[in-house]
Amino acid sequence: MFDAYTKETGTEITFITDKAGPLLQRLKAEGKNTRADLLITVDAGNLWHAAREGVLQRVDSKTLQANIPAHLRDPDNQWFGLSLRSRTIVYSTERVKSEELSTYESLGEPQWKDRLLLRTSKKVYNQSLVAMLIAEYGEEKAEGIVRSWVNNLATKPFSNDTKVMKGILAGQGDVGIVNTYYFGRLLKKNPDLKLALFWPNQNSTGVHVNVSGAGVTKYAKHPQAAIKLLEWLSSEKAQNLFADVNMEYPVNQNVKAHPYVAAWGEFKASEQNLANAGKLQKQAIQLMDRADYR
Ligand code: FE
Repeated sequence: MFDAYTKETGTEITFITDKAGPLLQRLKAEGKNTRADLLITVDAGNLWHAAREGVLQRVDSKTLQANIPAHLRDPDNQWFGLSLRSRTIVYSTERVKSEELSTYESLGEPQWKDRLLLRTSKKVYNQSLVAMLIAEYGEEKAEGIVRSWVNNLATKPFSNDTKVMKGILAGQGDVGIVNTYYFGRLLKKNPDLKLALFWPNQNSTGVHVNVSGAGVTKYAKHPQAAIKLLEWLSSEKAQNLFADVNMEYPVNQNVKAHPYVAAWGEFKASEQNLANAGKLQKQAIQLMDRADYR
């Protein structure tokens, strides 16, 4: 992706990669001395934190505002979603019919007792999911939903989404909640996968979505160059490059998802602003703790 940009513009890009936490710590420690112009990471919860920790700067760009729907970027313009993933229901095609599924909250119903598999609540993806449930339904109802999930768990939460799916394949449970691209990766390895995705809440709040995104650093030495790259990443030309690498969906509405991803079906997505994933993260963590979701 960066090679394509360099080829097109002549602008060289150097980068380092790490998880969101260490990158944020590094930006904070480096302060004004940082050589980083742009922070790219996953999950609005992480981007929101970076903004709150003061390592990003406001970017007022008509191009970014036109290319990226408002709910997928920071209301203060400090971070911008560049690709979209949904966190949705996955089920065993051997033991579950899609008609039996309907909403996230219905996974707490008695029919799923001892059949539900979840990833640990320590992962930001689940913190964001629960934060968005709080945003949609209020804390009390969200807590009721999480408690009903915990009550239906077939076994203690797994360390990652792939293990949730492998648990279903191994018969440890029948339904789970995962990010779409993990399903895509497993499907690529095994085209006969006995799993399918289900799009919940289609008559109500929509599927929970999150983003990979980026923001220009507060002490960027090349802020204009960073903004240009960010704008390019949101452009029709580059959106598939960005989304396809990780089997995600483009955020730019003029760009279609890769056919491999589009084959999982269309869905109505939640349009809650993703800033809520950050704002309500602490509340979500406390709620999951109270509900014994570990
Ligand atoms: Fe991931």
